[in-house]
Amino acid sequence: MNIPEKMKAAVLFDYNDLRVVEKPVPKPGKDEVLIRVKACAICGTDPKIIAHGWENCPPMGEYILGHEYAGEIAELGEGVTKFKVGDRVAIEPHKGCGHCVNCLRGYYTTCLNYGKLEEGHRHYGFTVNGGYAEYAVCHINCCHRFSEKLSYEDATMLTTAGTALYGIQRAGGIGPGETVAVIGPGPIGLMAVQLARVLGAGKVILVGTRDSRLAIGREVGADVLVNSRNEDAVEAVKRLTDGVMADMVVETSGSAAGGAQALELCKKSGRVALVGIYSEPVTVNLNKVVQWNMQIAGGKAEGEDVLDRLVPLMESGQIKTGPLLTHAFSLDDINEGVRTYKERIGNAIKVVIRP
Ligand SMILES: [Zn+2]
Ligand SMILES: [Zn+2]
Repeated sequence: MNIPEKMKAAVLFDYNDLRVVEKPVPKPGKDEVLIRVKACAICGTDPKIIAHGWENCPPMGEYILGHEYAGEIAELGEGVTKFKVGDRVAIEPHKGCGHCVNCLRGYYTTCLNYGKLEEGHRHYGFTVNGGYAEYAVCHINCCHRFSEKLSYEDATMLTTAGTALYGIQRAGGIGPGETVAVIGPGPIGLMAVQLARVLGAGKVILVGTRDSRLAIGREVGADVLVNSRNEDAVEAVKRLTDGVMADMVVETSGSAAGGAQALELCKKSGRVALVGIYSEPVTVNLNKVVQWNMQIAGGKAEGEDVLDRLVPLMESGQIKTGPLLTHAFSLDDINEGVRTYKERIGNAIKVVIRP
């Protein structure tokens, strides 16, 4: 593959100052590959980083964001045998140091050496450069191969689905025939609905506040839609479960109301997966967790091997991305893409940048 010296990249020069400029194409080191980026989806954290930066991020003027990307391997670094040039790969942003006790136990998304480059930790698009560029370097631990059955845009959604699946697993999974309530019909919530279906849920209830997004929930497999603006979600779930409530609640909204509601929708000895990012403290009734024997787990990003297991689910169409991928922009128009995502112009759900 012919690799140029220079590439186009969206670089953060200062807070709220993202510019597309020329940069040298990075070189892959040991156990790394160079990826020709084909698609990079805008994540909810990206507009926040553009506005406020990220702790341990590369210096302003050098920092390339983007952590939900997919592309084609263009060059192999030293020692790489697992991949070959031309492979289609999706990346996951977290690479643990590999030697702390959490990494040894498989909890690399909560690596104890977070941000320490000298220890081998990488958080692509956060502490090191990511995918809003024509080329990006990534460690092989974070690359996941997929076939031509998936487009590069589809593959950017693997991390979104991965966050939902990892949270569900951490909270104890979903059993056949169980009732699952998903709070928040955003990208992660709409993936959680589909995963609940795939995992054999008997009834999937989707709770949200926007009818347009709830309607997409129906399209991807929710049985019952509850708009909590018009209807009390607790009463609705009570009615739908004969007062028993949901076996599993997946909270993806990240709102204080959603966080508190998660416990109220859960049945005795039920399970709650928290995967939303809360920007304010949430008041919950912890006594309920004790007395109702609940199991609650937080899920930090897409840990373990969830991405590799999601590839066949997407390739076979059991997990759909189409209804969620609403907008695409070229790299030159990245600022317009970010604005479209942030302001939800044209009911934007997932916005993809194509370098
Ligand atoms: Zn993300
Ligand atoms: Zn570690």
